[in-house]
This record gives sequence, C-alpha cells and structure tokens, in this order.
Amino acid sequence: MGRFEGKVALVTGAAGGIGKAVVTLLKSEGARVAVSDRYCDGIASDLILEGDLRDPAYCDGLPGQVQDALGGLDILINNAGVITRGDITQASDEDYALTMAVNVEAPFRLCRAAIPIMAEAGGGAIVNTASCWGVHPGPNHPLYIMSKAALASLTQCLGRDHAGQGIRVNAVCPNEVNTPMLRTGFAIRGLDPDKGIEELNRSVPIGHIAEPEEIADVIAFLASDAARYVCGALVEVNGAKPVG
Ligand code: NAD
Repeated sequence: MGRFEGKVALVTGAAGGIGKAVVTLLKSEGARVAVSDRYCDGIASDLILEGDLRDPAYCDGLPGQVQDALGGLDILINNAGVITRGDITQASDEDYALTMAVNVEAPFRLCRAAIPIMAEAGGGAIVNTASCWGVHPGPNHPLYIMSKAALASLTQCLGRDHAGQGIRVNAVCPNEVNTPMLRTGFAIRGLDPDKGIEELNRSVPIGHIAEPEEIADVIAFLASDAARYVCGALVEVNGAKPVG
C-alpha cells in the first residue's frame, strides 16, 4: 500500500519543475491530487483548478473546492513561486507586488483556508517550498529572499500554533534545482542553460544541483506519517553546497 493511500492533496505550482515531480510522486503512492497552476495542460491529476495565485478569491477558495470535489484535504503543498532578480535599485513596484502576492500572500491565504478543514478532520500536513536563501540570504535577489524568509517564518509560526490540532507545517529549503525557474535565469542572461547547469554542478560538493525529484522526495517525506513528529522545520536540501 502506498504512503498516501486514502489521502487528498492540493499542490500549487503543479505545472512547474518541482510541482510536477511532487504530483507524480504523491499520485504514484496512492493520493488523490488536486493541481493548481495558471495552466495545467497534460498534468495527470484528480482535479484541475487553474487560476492565478495573485487573485485573493482564487486562493481563498481552493481548499474548499478540493474538499467539496474530493471529500477532504489532508495535504497542502504550497509550492508555486516566482523569482525577481537584481538588486533593490532595479526592483519595480510591480516586482514587489508580484513577489509578495505569489510567494507570501498566496501561501498565507491557502494555509488560512486549509487549516480549519484539516482541524475538523483531525489533522493534516502542509509543506511550503521556501528556499535556502530564505534561511541564509545570498546576493542580488532581495525581493525573492525576503519573500522566502517570510514563508520560512510563517512555516515556523504555523508549525507551532497548529501542532496541537494534529496539523504539521514544515518547509523544504532547496538550493539550486534544475527546473524552468533556474533555466530561464540563464536564458535571460543570454547563457546556454545546459552549460550554466554544468558549471553549477561543479560547485556542489555532492556533484550536481538538485533534480526536481530529489526535492519532491523530501516534500513527500514531510507530508507523510514518517515525519509525524516534525513540526515547523525548515529542511535544507542542498547537496552540501553552502549559500554564498
Ligand atoms: P517553476 O518555475 O518550474 O515552477 C513554478 C510554478 O509556479 C510554475 O508552474 C508557475 O506557473 C507557477 N506560478 C507562478 N506564478 C503563479 C501565479 N501567479 N499563479 C499560479 N501559479 C503560478 O520553478 P520551480 O523551481 O519548480 O519552483 C517551485 C518552487 O521552488 C518555487 O517556490 C521556487 O521559489 C522554489 N525554489 C526553486 C529553486 C530552484 O533553483 N529552481 C530553488 C529554491 C526554491
């Protein structure tokens, strides 16, 4: 029997690199999975809830929609994210609003709506995709880093506040992961993504940057009963590469 047999999960950013890997893993181990992203074409799931996480009503309504359609909500994976690059003098008002809306406000709204549903059912698990940069700031991405630090802090607060209701809230904090988010960063700078990743691989003690499945495995662990005593943790997954 799979680890997630009988469980219902909601994954945001489900069409992205890490999101797709999480959906595939949860489904392969028995969960019924609702997916949220702007476009969810071609994702094998049990419920598609397309929308824009900048829309407060969309975020507020997602957990209830999952409960109505799939009969509950046991696992919430707040994984969607955007990255805004450049130092603060290069950051526009739009960059600020986008970063905070997707990386902070959406998880806030989703947690706020999901927790009463989970509490009523006797428990649940929330896993947020933060970043190692939310724990140890790196250079030239102040908006992104600030938003991931806020998400890390929200994780710690909720992990403490809701443990008594059987709801575990944790975060995975990856360093570099081979996904469209990372690859477009190279492309925007006019660099070949494959060459950029080859170079990054040499900077990681374990020998390569993370593949999405290596992050999905940790997310699934945190969502599973094997992590039943883990609450409010920020789990760094970095192949031993320090932030710098
Ligand atoms: P990705 O770009 O492949 O996936 C992000 C997904 O979020 C996309 O499918 C995108 O459509 C969705 N999304 C963005 N804005 C949205 C909006 N307004 N409404 C609905 N959906 C929206 O990137 P990824 O690397 O898979 O990122 C997943 C998470 O991992 C993010 O939170 C990211 O910050 C985090 N992360 C990534 C890395 C990395 O190196 N790739 C490192 C640390 C943390």
